[in-house]
Amino acid sequence: MKRADVIIVGAGIIGLSTAWQLARRSKLRILVLEKGAGTGEGSTGASSAVCRTRYSLDNMIQLARDGIAAYRHWPDFTGLSAPRAAFAEDGVLWMPGADRDWAEREHRRMQGAGVATEVFGDDELQRRYPAFSACTIAPDTETGEAHSCRGGGRYLLETEGGYMDPVACADDLLEACRGAGVDVRFGAEVAAVSQAGGAVTGLTLAGGEQVAAPVVINAAGPWCNRLIAAAGLALPWHLRPTRIQVLYLDRPAEVTGPIPVTVDMAAGIYFRCQNRGQQLVVGSVLESDEREQVDDPDAFNRSADDAFTHAKLHALHHRLPALPYRGPIRGYCGLYTVNEEDVHPLVGESELKGFYLANGFSGHGFKLAPAIGAMLARQISGERCVEFDTAVAPDLFRVDRQPIAIASKSVLA
Ligand SMILES: Cc1cc2nc3c(=O)[nH]c(=O)nc-3n(C[C@H](O)[C@H](O)[C@H](O)COP(=O)(O)OP(=O)(O)OC[C@H]3O[C@@H](n4cnc5c(N)ncnc54)[C@H](O)[C@@H]3O)c2cc1C
Repeated sequence: MKRADVIIVGAGIIGLSTAWQLARRSKLRILVLEKGAGTGEGSTGASSAVCRTRYSLDNMIQLARDGIAAYRHWPDFTGLSAPRAAFAEDGVLWMPGADRDWAEREHRRMQGAGVATEVFGDDELQRRYPAFSACTIAPDTETGEAHSCRGGGRYLLETEGGYMDPVACADDLLEACRGAGVDVRFGAEVAAVSQAGGAVTGLTLAGGEQVAAPVVINAAGPWCNRLIAAAGLALPWHLRPTRIQVLYLDRPAEVTGPIPVTVDMAAGIYFRCQNRGQQLVVGSVLESDEREQVDDPDAFNRSADDAFTHAKLHALHHRLPALPYRGPIRGYCGLYTVNEEDVHPLVGESELKGFYLANGFSGHGFKLAPAIGAMLARQISGERCVEFDTAVAPDLFRVDRQPIAIASKSVLA
């Protein structure tokens, strides 16, 4: 029987980041089992991979900052001389609508956490981003009715924010892991969890092969509940695979100047560039767009709804008035796993000794992944790393915690 010290189920961004953080700091024999044919089969492949640091919880700011530090220094983090992925440091612009105090308040909080931010008003917005409207009024995305736009807002820019290509990142981590001796197997679906005396002992693959290990990490993304059930655990948490819609459109020449990653809080959308600025990706930041739970992660509607498409495009045109109404729009959907209780993940050992969870990342898992990997690697190996670790307590999201008190359950929480 094949033996390992640690088995990770799932080669998404969380599984591979954890494998890499373990490999960087230990000599443990690590086996990653992935049911798909390659990386990016789950949430990671659909991710918008926005790397922003502003969160309402200070610990989340720290974690995001630590995760993003790895992406910003990707060749150093992965040890690869020619990685596929590169951090697009376009900045993250927060447009809070008519609340003129919000940007200053958040600026102070972010500065306190060592995050580089700037605050400015309409003139500077127009100078930096000439394609943008400075309107602070929410567009009516239901009726499409026009209004007289009114400026006067204050905006927050995370100067070191940006985005990555999520599948290129996963492929880089795969290469780094394999180079360090991690065994990553594709087409390897885990069907059962073995245990004895209250501790995990290994796994059985769908084809019947058994593998033994004293530590198993569930990094199965939207499929996590199947593994939790296979381990015989009944958690007080509800981890819901949730259908998330995103639109892609070409960026025409009329939309001039730089486009940062933008969180248009008044309109309830985010958008960013893609493909060296030639495309735009648009998604929602509204809790109301995070409500469609999916029973079977292998069977859900992967096309965007007409109502979603029209509403988000209306909001985008309101923010980028030069954007013409032409060209193809591709809508698609992915899944992410929402922790219904507090929208924060579960990261740590479960009641079954040696069986760890790394699940329920909602729309945050990409940016956090290198830091989450560090938290888990520290719990399992006991080792710290000088670089690309995290100062956040490894048990912040432990499985037996109480739900974290949060003001909002939206993806901006
Ligand atoms: C549309 C969308 C936009 C997003 N935007 C952002 C964003 O802008 N910023 C951000 O930080 N996050 C974002 N996210 C969230 C982020 O992408 C996820 O939190 C993250 O990708 C989760 O990674 P994961 O490795 O846990 O899961 P996954 O990527 O789903 O990986 C799990 C893997 O486990 C495998 N697996 C499952 N069951 C088994 C089994 N039994 N045996 C073997 N293998 C198994 C699956 O095939 C899959 O490859 C977004 C997500 C979506 C869907």
